[in-house]
Amino acid sequence: MICMEPLYEGKAKRLWATEDPNVLRMEFKNDATAYNGEKKAQFESKGRLNNTISNLIYGVLEKEGVPTHLIRNIDDTNVEVHKVEILMVEVIVRNLSAGSFCKRTGMEEGIPFGQPIIEFSYKSDELGDPLINDDYIREMKLASAEDLAHLRGSALKVNEILGNFFAECGLKLVDFKLEFGRLVKDPSQIVLADEISPDGCRLWDLNTGEKMDKDRFRRDLGNVMEAYEEVLQRVKAKLG
Ligand code: UDP
Repeated sequence: MICMEPLYEGKAKRLWATEDPNVLRMEFKNDATAYNGEKKAQFESKGRLNNTISNLIYGVLEKEGVPTHLIRNIDDTNVEVHKVEILMVEVIVRNLSAGSFCKRTGMEEGIPFGQPIIEFSYKSDELGDPLINDDYIREMKLASAEDLAHLRGSALKVNEILGNFFAECGLKLVDFKLEFGRLVKDPSQIVLADEISPDGCRLWDLNTGEKMDKDRFRRDLGNVMEAYEEVLQRVKAKLG
């Protein structure tokens, strides 16, 4: 049976069923959105760039013992992933002030934190992914205390690994967002899901401070895909 309809279509990706009920095909689209979908554009190579960068980063994380949903790359814009039930909590890690942290606090951009900040948001487009805390998560029954401790620990570990990795690529990992899911075939296992790409990470050139991520699109800085391509080339060069 050929499935003509995706199981799910989001802002940047589609999920397709496969013959295996525990496995999905995730397709990266060329659509770019910002400000909760208010700003939209298409970039010809975005799907390929984000898919390739995300796969390489997931490879780095897997090697360091972080479980992810990734099974294998299929082609430029498609990967095979374990089917998961996505936790409705987004985990954001910040190493320097930027984005909504600055909006909320009035602090200027680019101030390094003594320790990483971890924050949570409720994954709801309708509500604009509002900031929540441990108590909200408990009362909203989004995750158990044990799961939340696991998310925190994983996020810090990912930050450590990727902070070092991107530094070796000449990039500062300013902040990033992670999503986690429970494996459908074994719900006791929580793995990293979604993508890790310049769409969900702020990356600044270590020497020039130039923004190499989705802020180029958000703020109309131009050369959006050129920056993503540069990130890919540096990641590839580092991995040899
Ligand atoms: N982020 C994301 N998806 C979201 C919200 C944030 O990928 O729905 C990423 C964003 O790209 C940045 C980090 O998480 O790298 C922190 O984002 P922030 O809270 O500053 O939000 P912004 O106002 O930039 O969307």
